[in-house]
Amino acid sequence: MFKTEYRGRFAPSPTGALHAGSLATALGSWLKARAHQGKWLLRIEDLDLPRCAPGADRIIIQQLLNCGLHWDEEIEYQSKRSQFYELALNQLKKEEKAYGCRCTRKQIEDQLLRLGKKKDRHGELVYPGSCRKLNEVTEPCAWRLLVTDPEIESSVGDFVLRRSDRVFTYQLAVVVDDYLQGITHIVRGEDLLDNTARQIYLQKQLGYPQPHYLHLPLVLDDNNEKLSKQTNATAIACNTPDEALEALQAAARHLGLDEPALFKKGSYSSQSSESIINQSTINESTITQWLETAVEHYRKTRL
Ligand SMILES: [Zn+2]
Repeated sequence: MFKTEYRGRFAPSPTGALHAGSLATALGSWLKARAHQGKWLLRIEDLDLPRCAPGADRIIIQQLLNCGLHWDEEIEYQSKRSQFYELALNQLKKEEKAYGCRCTRKQIEDQLLRLGKKKDRHGELVYPGSCRKLNEVTEPCAWRLLVTDPEIESSVGDFVLRRSDRVFTYQLAVVVDDYLQGITHIVRGEDLLDNTARQIYLQKQLGYPQPHYLHLPLVLDDNNEKLSKQTNATAIACNTPDEALEALQAAARHLGLDEPALFKKGSYSSQSSESIINQSTINESTITQWLETAVEHYRKTRL
């Protein structure tokens, strides 16, 4: 039987080190890709440079390596891929599916007020499409997608593809990258669930195939809020193999993979009589062993 190749990815923003939540997402997407004998790609989503922390990409990469979550193919950086986003935007412009808009936030607020509409969606403004009919729009302007799907139109409106400061938005970049990298399966955190309809719509407008989506439950903090770099979630400790294994086990438990077989106490402890070098070798192969067991377990229970 012909089987389509599975291609998954992990796409962190380098705004800080991986925390318990982002490691769970990384592990979940890694396990699924490995269980399908597929590829797992790493993409650094660093489009919004002012929000990125210098060096955070290197830290994330090291954390993944320490945890044995190795990726296939070359790491892609969104900040180096603008030419691809430009091509996609040009395609939409040519097909009159995108239009320029110079409205300021204040103007959009006023337009909405006149229309008797309130801001919605976490205080985000749903743009009412005021510039749809303009013929000539001069740069600098934002470029918006012309949304004709009633549900998406009412929930997010004609969303921005490129901001007036020429920065491409996450929505466009992620859709273009997933397509160009041939991603077939997207496994990511539940916090991105409400972007999915928009992204599927954009894929259709660009004539791209639709990948499969799976959204993983978020790790919450003591206040029941999602862990995020903005709320200063603690970076996972994984500098030693023991720490890395512990972090992986916590991530797996979060994903509901806490089978006794997988977490048998003591079966992974290091032997104190070994020399430091040997001990670290033993522990590193232990991580690999643990990951292999986890993949087997995932294959049996989740596929
Ligand atoms: Zn406008």
